[in-house]
Amino acid sequence: MNIKSFLINIKNHRTTISRHIVQIIAFIIINYILLELIFSINLLSMESLVKVLPILNSPRNPISSGAGILEYIFYFIVDGIFPVFLIAALIIILLLTNRVFCGWVCPVGTIQDACAAIPTPKRSIKINTHKSLLKVKYTFVILIIIIVLPLGITMSTNYEFYVDYRANIGDFGRKPMGFFSLSEYIFVFFPNIIKDMINTGSLQPLFSNLVTFIIFFFYLIIIILSVWYPRVYCRYFCPFAAIASTVSEYSFLKLTRNPVRCVGRSDCGICENICPKQIRILDEPFEFFTGKGECNFCLKCKEACPYDAIDMKFG
Ligand code: SF4
Ligand code: SF4
Repeated sequence: MNIKSFLINIKNHRTTISRHIVQIIAFIIINYILLELIFSINLLSMESLVKVLPILNSPRNPISSGAGILEYIFYFIVDGIFPVFLIAALIIILLLTNRVFCGWVCPVGTIQDACAAIPTPKRSIKINTHKSLLKVKYTFVILIIIIVLPLGITMSTNYEFYVDYRANIGDFGRKPMGFFSLSEYIFVFFPNIIKDMINTGSLQPLFSNLVTFIIFFFYLIIIILSVWYPRVYCRYFCPFAAIASTVSEYSFLKLTRNPVRCVGRSDCGICENICPKQIRILDEPFEFFTGKGECNFCLKCKEACPYDAIDMKFG
């Protein structure tokens, strides 16, 4: 490849390159404790700066497992507090920025994109199966709410019940999203299991109980699958994605498709083939589309469209 074609390639992929740069920077900031390990430095002074932003919570904070805004909301509810401000902030952010967080910032999205960058042919899931699987993440959220809500209600109204119930639901009471979170798996569960296996010199920690065994292989399979099925966790299993899809369908920030420029599926269809979320872009309305809230605003479709038919719109 000569310099000219290299520069053209960069120009044609400048959105994706910018997105990956933002993803890498966000990954490092969110997990800045990694910098301490790699460079043997102490960034403790950053703690107060980071603590005010729930989505950038320090890994040192005792309630930071997973460290996302949704985790915070559920933690608060478990403690009998309804974080109205956080819920309102989440809704406003989603309404203003759609799912830019998912496409450009989320470290778990970055890890899946890194898996998908492995050069293998990408596959799509049969449309009916895909539609059914999309509902799984909503089931997870409903399940978490059903389990957690009684704690939020009874903390101040029936403390005895609260204590009993919280003790009986075990880990759900401690970290309500733990079992459903790939970030919890990648950054907490998986390293701990590997550490335990190294310390004991055996596979015993993996077989300590059925839940541990199932979680270990379930998420491992999800990560491996994301090599062929991009963003498979975001699409089907992420609880944050369930909330984000519901709200972002009404976001002010949207994508549009120009009906004059677009030549349609039979003559092109490049946008649909490249979309990591398997969105049927050409079945969406021209005026705006969010893929029923599934679009994570990666802008790959916009970048790939040879007729410049896809654009962003605010309002
Ligand atoms: S890539 Fe562009 S022209 Fe082709 S189908 Fe998609 S929107 Fe239409
Ligand atoms: S519709 Fe476009 S911006 Fe949205 S996820 Fe698919 S490729 Fe990315």
